[in-house]
Amino acid sequence: MKIQSNVAVPAGVQLPIYMDNHATSPLDPRVLEAMLPYLTNKFGNAASRNHSFGWEAEQAVETAREQIARLIGATAKEIIFTSGATESNNLALKGIAEMYRERGNHIITQVTEHKAILDTCKRLEKQGYRVTYLPVKADGLIDIDDLKRAMDDKTILVSIMYANNEIGVIQPIAEIGKLCHEKGVLFHTDAVQAVGKIPVNVIADNIDVLSLSGHKIYGPKGVGALYVRRRNPRVQIAAQIDGGGHERGMRSGTLNVPGIVGLGKACEIAQEEMTSEAARLTGLRDRLKAKLEAELDYIHVNGNMEHHLPGNLNMSFVYVEGESLLMGINDIAVSSGSACTSATLEPSYVLKALGLGDDVAHSSIRFGLGRFNTEAEVDYVAAKVIDVVKKLRELSPLYEMVKEGIDLTKIEWAAH
Ligand SMILES: *Cc1c(COP(=O)(O)O)cnc(C)c1O
Repeated sequence: MKIQSNVAVPAGVQLPIYMDNHATSPLDPRVLEAMLPYLTNKFGNAASRNHSFGWEAEQAVETAREQIARLIGATAKEIIFTSGATESNNLALKGIAEMYRERGNHIITQVTEHKAILDTCKRLEKQGYRVTYLPVKADGLIDIDDLKRAMDDKTILVSIMYANNEIGVIQPIAEIGKLCHEKGVLFHTDAVQAVGKIPVNVIADNIDVLSLSGHKIYGPKGVGALYVRRRNPRVQIAAQIDGGGHERGMRSGTLNVPGIVGLGKACEIAQEEMTSEAARLTGLRDRLKAKLEAELDYIHVNGNMEHHLPGNLNMSFVYVEGESLLMGINDIAVSSGSACTSATLEPSYVLKALGLGDDVAHSSIRFGLGRFNTEAEVDYVAAKVIDVVKKLRELSPLYEMVKEGIDLTKIEWAAH
């Protein structure tokens, strides 16, 4: 059902509002500026050794490698360029599984990983690897004791994401890394949502392999990186793409120089501005949350709020129908608790892993605040969501019954 909502648009706010920064983020104009020469006159192939066009491109790539390394506490030589985090995750898991097959065939991950990890693990299972998918607690965090119990003498790799892309929870990465190193197991983390948003340090966190992506940190799409530790331990990864032997033989293919320059610049900006940006986004996120909570009942936050990304707020609006809610706020770009592969109407597997029912998962919204969101936008989004939820609940028989004190769990529904 479509409901009528006429919330005033504050001065300076342009519709539609983009608040889906976990899906992708707009390109920072400073990143574009850094990239432009490499899309025009500085077009050289970074692998060309015989002329200045090649040297110039190579120089730019090496600068980017340093910028990325600095942001995560690595060295430039430990950074391998890829086409994005999906490829980085594939390369990490398949490359390690292949390289360490003699040592063991067991991999540990968890149920709320991105599909780029889960589907890669499924393929590895078909190839004879054994994969343990750790559950998460109701707050979205794994239990370290579960991880300890899952490890055995055939375990070669643990892959646990740094921060979740739907519910924004930050896993106890340093603790996981420490445990892995004690047991001599390699530790990979999909850090796409964490890098550039919160401090990430591969040494302090005991990370051996780490995936990151350009377009989640105001850089370009189609470029990412894989950090591969070179000392204590030296990690080996079997290439999954063969060719000219680029990137220390781990990832062949002519480098995407403008993309890499953009990724480097995005990392440099993130490093300079992370502290102030995180504080600002936390403020905006808490403002949004407080406004919604002040006006609406039967709403709740998904995911542990103490160990949480600054710009993430995932909320369930019970007793409203998810589809109608999204339609009602269609001048705001957010994600719903329906699977991010929105072609299906399956509820999100991440929310289900927290124990949410299908209907509550469907009526959940992920607000993804980013660098270019303003306080005025937050105020409009809050007002709009409040208005639409109230109007939908006026039409909801379930909400009516709950208000009258009827316990819905005790009702026996007639079959359709
Ligand atoms: C976006 C995302 C990916 C995929 O990254 P691409 O660069 O788009 O391939 C992987 N993991 C997480 C957690 C993400 O949010």
